[in-house]
Amino acid sequence: MTNSNSESQAAAAPSNFLHDMIAEDVRTKKYGDAVIQTRFPPEPNGYLHIGHAKAICIDFGLADEFGGKTNLRFDDTNPEKEEQEYVDSIMNDVRWLGFDWERLCYASDYFDQLYEWALQLVKAGKAYVDDLTADEIRQHRGTLTEPGKDSPYRSRTIEENLDLFTRMKAGEFPDGTRVLRAKIDMASPNLNMRDPVMYRILHASHQRTGDKWCIYPMYDYAHGQSDSIERVTHSMCTLEFTDHQPIYRWYIEHLGIFPSNQTEFDRLNITYTMLSKRKLLQLVQENRVNGWDDPRMPTLCGLRRRGFTPEAIRAFVAASGVSRTNGSTDVEMLEHFQRDDLNRRANRAMAVLRPLKLVIDNYPADQVEFVEAANNPEDPSAGTRKVPFSGEIYIEQDDFRETPPPKYYRLSPGKEVRLRNAYFVTAQSVVKDAAGVIVEVHCTYDPASRGGNSPDGRKVKSTMHWVSAAHAISAEIRLYDKLFAKADPYDLEEGQDVLDNLNANSLEILTTAKLEPSLATAKLEDRFQFERVGYFCIDPDSVPGNLVFNRTLALKDSWAKIEKKSGA
Ligand code: ATP
Ligand code: MG
Repeated sequence: MTNSNSESQAAAAPSNFLHDMIAEDVRTKKYGDAVIQTRFPPEPNGYLHIGHAKAICIDFGLADEFGGKTNLRFDDTNPEKEEQEYVDSIMNDVRWLGFDWERLCYASDYFDQLYEWALQLVKAGKAYVDDLTADEIRQHRGTLTEPGKDSPYRSRTIEENLDLFTRMKAGEFPDGTRVLRAKIDMASPNLNMRDPVMYRILHASHQRTGDKWCIYPMYDYAHGQSDSIERVTHSMCTLEFTDHQPIYRWYIEHLGIFPSNQTEFDRLNITYTMLSKRKLLQLVQENRVNGWDDPRMPTLCGLRRRGFTPEAIRAFVAASGVSRTNGSTDVEMLEHFQRDDLNRRANRAMAVLRPLKLVIDNYPADQVEFVEAANNPEDPSAGTRKVPFSGEIYIEQDDFRETPPPKYYRLSPGKEVRLRNAYFVTAQSVVKDAAGVIVEVHCTYDPASRGGNSPDGRKVKSTMHWVSAAHAISAEIRLYDKLFAKADPYDLEEGQDVLDNLNANSLEILTTAKLEPSLATAKLEDRFQFERVGYFCIDPDSVPGNLVFNRTLALKDSWAKIEKKSGA
């Protein structure tokens, strides 16, 4: 396993209990001279989300730190829910995040071995075929306060079990009529140990093994042994598997195979965000979003399309830490890491999202000049560019008020402001349409303020972005907001579903934006800070001449809050 970027090591570098555990195992040579081996084991039943990014950073990051290796293993034991499309997207997303695997593995590659081991347990009297229905098995299972009841089939002879299990495999019985169960303890305080199901009958084609199998192993029977086959030393997973740890150990112990060890850590939960492949699939299927890579989705492909970067996601995951109890992380923290990254790396450009025409009455007719603009003030090596300026430009509608509210420092009649990199201008008058809507603002400029520099030390309180009308290019701008309206989407009223908490206004499309001409050549994966507006990237829907930009994040706009409060 190698990280394509040394920064990704930072994702797991801070000391935490997982790190300390591995360090201790290395010190005591728990696994002799074997290398540290981890795995990332997604089920290919959906696209990866940012929660998986945490698991990936832990699995790959920790192995890397200790000179170990990481396998990507598809936990493909549910043929009905799994698809090649998901396999492909998962590989793509892991790589995009900055990681590469030692070996590509599939639980289905182990079906023969798992079956042999099941026979071994049957022959040892440690597994039996049960004819109870799923409902009956549930009823016999008991509760946390009551022990379970033995199935009447629990006392079948080894010969009978061998006969029935091989016939299950041979396809003699319909779906759901029989299962193979481990014979453990129907009174165990841990319900997972009350004779867990190992195999179910399912006449379903598997995307890799085709129709070879009509019995499929359960997660608990497949996972630990797959780890063991790959000689995984540290099998890390989320806390909901804590109660499964005894069964993970039981199979390994009773089969006498390589002793992989499971350790649990907290799931990443983020406010205003739903992290569950099953529910995300529902959003896609019900067309509540435009596919898995809708820029509002918390999927890695959605975040990518939105303009998020792997560097920022890794830094966020590292900063959110690892714990033994589940908690919740503010989405603002993720946004902070993304802003921080883009602030350092994104080139600046000027774009007017909601244009208002500004006519400079004393600017020579037909004159065009080119003003110099820094591409990134945070990074002088990004250079400068020339931006055309003329006597008719666009400014944001919000940057002009005919009657300015208190503390409004932008353009208003008689007020002087700076046009970024260009000139000082003073608003003089407005032109309105029949409905009384302002369609043009007229102003004068001070030729001595070229470059936006004060000619005589006089100060202006505002610097505004602009785009020359004659040179502007048009583009569609997609403004995204939070997908959920509630910080905890699972905070539900009686009878509500989590999807009832969707934010009805999570997408706004602007079709009249005016952009500086340099943006005409923007490419996929280019990222920009539209000055004073936010961070943007090109959407894959974009075609030359018909550009589409996604807003990754707004710049923090403290003014919006003040304006709202004062009711202006
Ligand atoms: P989901 O409920 O979204 O389908 P899952 O846990 O079923 O998630 P898997 O494909 O089984 O998804 O997960 C692969 C790995 O990713 C597992 O080790 C799992 O523990 C981990 N993982 C999944 N969701 C999160 C999360 N929110 N935070 C951290 N790790 C996660
Ligand atoms: Mg799962």
